[in-house]
Amino acid sequence: MQHPVDPSTYDYSDPFGSMAGRSYAHTGSDYIVAYGEVYSVADAIVYHTGWNDGNGNYICCYLPGHDWDGVEGGAYIAYLHLSSINVNEGDSVKQGQKIGVSGNTGSNSRGPHLHVTLSNSDLAYLGLGAKVDPFAYIQARLGFPVPPKPVEPPKPTPVPPTPAGPPTPVKLTPAQQRQAIAKQRQYLKDARTNLANERRLGSRKDERKMAKYREQIARAQTRIKNIRRNGY
Ligand SMILES: [Zn+2]
Repeated sequence: MQHPVDPSTYDYSDPFGSMAGRSYAHTGSDYIVAYGEVYSVADAIVYHTGWNDGNGNYICCYLPGHDWDGVEGGAYIAYLHLSSINVNEGDSVKQGQKIGVSGNTGSNSRGPHLHVTLSNSDLAYLGLGAKVDPFAYIQARLGFPVPPKPVEPPKPTPVPPTPAGPPTPVKLTPAQQRQAIAKQRQYLKDARTNLANERRLGSRKDERKMAKYREQIARAQTRIKNIRRNGY
């Protein structure tokens, strides 16, 4: 299998299933190629050629041996918007054989390009039947399990907003420092007294209360140390 035109012209911006600018999902793959030779993607039988208002000049080919998982009944490929058709209905064509020239025919075309539809229906040229992504289908058969995507510049890592830290404490005056230290000393004294009283209860002492008093002692000691060192 091969792409019908140079695969580098594939239009990644409007893939199979895309709604871009239309009221229905894109029925196939587009290649942005202006008036370029179109080649049969595989050995095929030209099933139908013709014209309709939306799709312009089209070729619909049957691809023998191209049933695929979940889509039975053979594969049909339609090439739309052609400026010329170089095959006749009933022709057997070889993979890579020129079958037409891309163009801008039909009211669904908004600029020269090649559209291909791959379907299990012989009405593939009308976008009917169970369809698959032609570009991905061909890529898979060329040994690319995932269609290559154009290289995008790496997205910048979003920087989370810095959370507002605690406001910088205002330095206490020496008098306020003495007062604050005195208060912490009182807390310290009370916690130590409570701890000693609890310990005297012997086997009836409450370990949770004792842990709480120890925590109060440690907190008061830290406060006193900080006030002395930092002034707050
Ligand atoms: Zn298209």
